[in-house]
Amino acid sequence: MTALTGAEVSGYDVDVLVIGGGQAGLAAGYHLQRAGFVPGSGYVVLDANLSPGGSWQHMWESLHLFSPAGYSSLPGWLMPPSEGEDFPPAAHVVDYLSRYEQRYGLPVHHGIRADAVRRADDDPTGRLFVETTVGTWSAQAVVSATGTWGRPFIPRYPGMDTFTGRQLHSADYSLPEPFAGQRVVVVGGGNTGAQLLAELSLVADTTWVTLRPPRFLPDDVDGRVLFDVATARRKALDSGQRDTGGVTSLGDVVMVPPVHRARDRGVLVAEAMFDRLTPTGVAWADGTERPVDVVLWCTGFRPDLGHLSPLGLRRQDGHPVTVGTRAADEPRLHLLGYGDWTGPASATLIGVGRTARDATRQVAQLLGKEPASPVR
Ligand code: FAD
Repeated sequence: MTALTGAEVSGYDVDVLVIGGGQAGLAAGYHLQRAGFVPGSGYVVLDANLSPGGSWQHMWESLHLFSPAGYSSLPGWLMPPSEGEDFPPAAHVVDYLSRYEQRYGLPVHHGIRADAVRRADDDPTGRLFVETTVGTWSAQAVVSATGTWGRPFIPRYPGMDTFTGRQLHSADYSLPEPFAGQRVVVVGGGNTGAQLLAELSLVADTTWVTLRPPRFLPDDVDGRVLFDVATARRKALDSGQRDTGGVTSLGDVVMVPPVHRARDRGVLVAEAMFDRLTPTGVAWADGTERPVDVVLWCTGFRPDLGHLSPLGLRRQDGHPVTVGTRAADEPRLHLLGYGDWTGPASATLIGVGRTARDATRQVAQLLGKEPASPVR
């Protein structure tokens, strides 16, 4: 759907407002529809991006999923295979999400940002107001699915402000070519750090620094195995058994083909994290200095939740306290995606369907609505 003007939407009332139209928002839309909420009058999805695809449309050009298409699907419709490739590229995900939106007629309004969610009054069963770039909406329940892409995280290091080279976060990286011939420090021992190191090392003079030695997953572990491990953990926890540790107990870096090839070239050698930046490079506590042109921070993201600030939610570990997907302090608010704190694998394509279904069931109950058809 296209963006609406302020005059068209100001004062608009719906039962449920979903904020964010990436995969998590779409999965919520799918389940809300199945639960009987009417697209448009019953629920809408507001998305700050001008076009469909969530943050997949902004990721670096060579990025491929770490799972085959069949393991990367939202509820209802399997992701079609990507021609000639076992692991689909990000552009394929954008296409899938665009078609998913159309296929189910999801009422997604692109180009509208929610700035603030407020309680209408002290009545805990009253409405929530959502102030947006085109006016204020009112809803009985809100699902926040705004992801993390909008809040890249860069840790603070002494000397950062004096460094005269270029610093950028992985969110602003798209291609290796602009870095050809440059001295680049890649910071971060996760998948992004390893993958960007792998491609930059083909054109640039790279150094890899990590807080702790990188933990590589076995070569035969891809997203399929990770999903199976996450599922086994969820089953164990659900049935009161001990925590198996899940995916993070296995390692951090998936050995996708470019990373595998980088290892064969002897590139995957990490040094300890530097202690400070100098005007011309980076330096370690033992006095070693290295001149560099670029520092590429592959240091992750934080939940993009500024719009929830007016609710004053209790926080823990950098995010609102939740019971499943529901905000512990606000039963009219659910959070989807972001990380495992909203449900196991909630921040993955295949995992968010289940948490979206759970959230939708609770919203339907809260609003006294029985699901129109069995939600599976
Ligand atoms: P997003 O895709 O970020 O969508 C959020 C949407 O909300 C955006 O469209 C944004 O514009 C909108 N929004 C934000 N704030 C507001 C606001 N205030 N008002 C209105 N709209 C707003 N997962 C996998 O399953 N497989 C993989 O292989 C995989 N690889 C990944 C690789 C990278 C580099 C990264 C960063 C993540 C990867 N993930 C992968 C994890 C996850 O699937 C993605 O991060 C995914 O984009 C999360 O979807 P989302 O809907 O939660 O958030």
